Amino acid sequence: MLSLEQDAVESLYRQLEAKVTTARPKDDIGVLEKTYRYARERHGAQKRRDGSPYMTHPLHVTQVLAGMQMDMVCLQTGLLHDVVEDTGATVEDVRRLFGDEVARCVDGVTKLNKVNFYSREEQQAESVRKMLLAMVNDIRVIIVKLADRLHNMQTLAALPRERQERIALETLEIYAPIAHRLGMGKIRGELEDLAFEYVEPDAWAELKREIDTKREANEGFLMEIRKMVELQLAREGVPARVDGRVKRAFSVFQKLKRQKISLDQVYDLLALRIITDSVKNCYAALGVIHNEWHPIPGRIKDFIAIPRPNLYQSLHTSVIGPGGQSFEVQIRTEEMHKVAEEGIAAHWKYKEGKKGHADDDRRITWLRQLVEWQHEVRDSTEFMSGLKVELYPEEVYTFTPRGRVIVLPRDATSIDFAYAIHSDVGNTCVGAKVNGRIVPLKYNLRNGDVVEILTQPGHMPSKDWLALVKTQRARNKIRHEINTTERAKAVEIGQKYLEKEARRLGVSLNKATKADLEAVASEYGYGKIEDLHAALGYGKFSPRQVLQKLAPDSVQPEEPPKPAAPQPHTPGQPAPHDADLVIKVRGIDDLLVYRAKCCNPIKGEGIVGYITRGKGVAVHSVNCTNVQNLMYEIDRRIEVEWARSTTELFPIKLTIRTDDRPGMLNQVTNVLFTEQSNIRNLEARGNDDKTGDGAMVEFTAEIRDKKQLERIVSALRRISGVRDVERVQ
Ligand code: MN
Repeated sequence: MLSLEQDAVESLYRQLEAKVTTARPKDDIGVLEKTYRYARERHGAQKRRDGSPYMTHPLHVTQVLAGMQMDMVCLQTGLLHDVVEDTGATVEDVRRLFGDEVARCVDGVTKLNKVNFYSREEQQAESVRKMLLAMVNDIRVIIVKLADRLHNMQTLAALPRERQERIALETLEIYAPIAHRLGMGKIRGELEDLAFEYVEPDAWAELKREIDTKREANEGFLMEIRKMVELQLAREGVPARVDGRVKRAFSVFQKLKRQKISLDQVYDLLALRIITDSVKNCYAALGVIHNEWHPIPGRIKDFIAIPRPNLYQSLHTSVIGPGGQSFEVQIRTEEMHKVAEEGIAAHWKYKEGKKGHADDDRRITWLRQLVEWQHEVRDSTEFMSGLKVELYPEEVYTFTPRGRVIVLPRDATSIDFAYAIHSDVGNTCVGAKVNGRIVPLKYNLRNGDVVEILTQPGHMPSKDWLALVKTQRARNKIRHEINTTERAKAVEIGQKYLEKEARRLGVSLNKATKADLEAVASEYGYGKIEDLHAALGYGKFSPRQVLQKLAPDSVQPEEPPKPAAPQPHTPGQPAPHDADLVIKVRGIDDLLVYRAKCCNPIKGEGIVGYITRGKGVAVHSVNCTNVQNLMYEIDRRIEVEWARSTTELFPIKLTIRTDDRPGMLNQVTNVLFTEQSNIRNLEARGNDDKTGDGAMVEFTAEIRDKKQLERIVSALRRISGVRDVERVQ
C-alpha cells in the first residue's frame, strides 16, 4: 500500500519533470529533483483529506506552474509552498538549501496562507484583494498562490460542506478577481467555474441541465462553422488556427442574472477563437467573418486598438450564423492570446532572460494601468523597483482576530486600530497583541498583522496617545474623552476642596442650601454648582473665597495661605509656578501644582501629589518623611507624573565633606562643568560642622533630573579626599 502510494507520487514527479524538460530545456533539472526530494521528505506520511499522499498537492500545483512555463524559482516555490506552514521547516532551512529567492517566495506564500476572512461585504472583499496584492513583493508569489488555490478547488469535494462553501466564496470574491486584475484569464475562468458549483448549487445545476440538453446541437454547430471559417481564412491566405467553445458556465450565469434574459438570448453562448500571426491579419480575419455573416450592430469591439485595463487585447464581434443562430468571434495574435490566458505571468516570462529598459517600461505600464483601474494611488511612478509590487503604499491592511479587515493609514498604531473598532475599545485600550505577541502601543502596524486589543474596563486614554495616532478619528475621540474625564476630575477635586475647607472653617455646607451655593456660582458667572466645583478644581480661585461669599459672618476674608508642610530653609527655592510646567496631575490640566519644599523632588524621582488647602497640589517625593509619616490623609492623595519632555532645571543643594586640601574646590566645580550643570551659589568653609576637622563645601546646582543628580553625586564621591556628599532637604 505504502509503496503503491510512493509510486503514484514518484510518477507524478516524473510527469512534472518531463513537462519542465520540454518547456525549459536549458534549466538544471537536478535542482527540481533536489527540491522535490526535500519537500517529499518533509511532508513524509502526511495525507490530504481525500486520503492521497500530501505530496501530490504541491506536485499538481507545480504542474500548473510548469504549464505556464514559469521559471525554476517559481517551480521550486510550488513544490515547497506548504513546507513551512505544514511541516515545521523554517524559511531559514529553505534559504540554506535553495537560496534567497526561493526562501523569499516561500515566505510570501506562507504569509498569504495566514490571511483569513469571512465577510460577504463587497467593500471588505475589495480591501482583502488590495491587501493581498500589497503584501506580495514578488509577482511569482501570487502566481503560486493562484495555482495552489486552483488545485484546492479541483479537490474541494473531499472537504466538509461548510468549508467548501467558505473556500469557494473566497475563491469567487478574492482570488478570481485578482486573477482577472492580473490578466490571467485562464486561471480566473477555471476558478470561477469550480467555485460556482459550491456557491450557487441550485443555479449551477439548472444551468448545467439547460446547457447539456443543447450540448450535441451546439457542438455540431460549432464544428460546422469552424470548418467554414478555416476554409475561408485559407482561401484569403490568412494563417490561423480556429477553436470553438461554449461560453463558461459562470460567465453565462452572470450574464443571465445581470441582463435578466434567457439562455436563448445570450449572443455569445457559442464562440469561435481565431489566432493568427499579426495584427494586420486580425483585421483581415474580421473582414472575412463580416463578409460571410451579418454582424450584430454594437457588438464589434476593438480591444487591439484600445486594450482593456488588464492589457487584454482582441477583436470581438457577434454575428448571425447559419439558421439564425448567433455566435461570437474573438480574433487575436498568438502573443495576445498568451497575455489573455496568462496575463502578468506572460509578461513576467517576457522579462525573464531579457534585460533592458523596454521590458521594464512594459511592466511598469502594466502596473500603472492596474493602479489606474483602481483609482486609488496618487503617484504610480515610484512603486516599481525590481519585482517589488507596492501597489498601495499609503495604506496598511490589518485584521481583527476574527478576520475583519481594518484599513489604516501607513504608520498607524494599535491605538488607531482600537478606535477603528469602537471608541469604547479605544478608550479602554491598555495594550495590543500583534500576531500573538505583545507589542508597545506605539508599534507601527504592518500589512497582514492580526491585531488583538487588550482592554481594561475603566481605563482612560492618555494625552501621550495624541502623538502616537495617525487617524483623525482616534485623535478626535481621545481629545473628547480626555476633556470629559478632566472635567469630571476637576469637579471631584473642587468639591473635595470645598468640603474640607468648609469643615476646617466650621461652615456647614449642609446648612447652606443648594440655592445659596447656586447663587454664589452665578455670582462667578456659572450656571451650575458643578461648574463652580470644576473652577475650584482647576484652581481658578480658592475654596475660602467661595465660603466667604457663602457665609460672610463666619469666614474671614482671604489670608495668606499656610505652608503645606514643615519648611526647612532651602536657599534658591523656585517659585511654585516653575513647577507646574514639569509636573502634571494625571489627566488634569490647569491645576496649580508645586513641588513641596520639604523634599524638593526632581525629575525622575517617584512623586505623589496632595491637595492642599487653597494652594493647589503639593508634590512630594515618595520617600519624603512627611509622606511616610502619614502626615497627609489618604483621600487628599492624587496621582501626578513628570511631564514627558521638559528642559526645566531643578536647583538642588548639596553638601560635601572633604579633607582640607588645595585643588579640592577646583575638582568639585570640574565635575559640575563636565555635567554642564550651572552652579547658583557655592560656599566653602574650612571646618566641618560635625567633625570639626576637614572642610565643607555647600552649593546649589541646577540639575536636569534624577539620573544627572546620581551621576554628579557619584563623580563627587570618586574625588579623592571626599568623605561624604549629601543632598540637603
Ligand atoms: Mn497548498
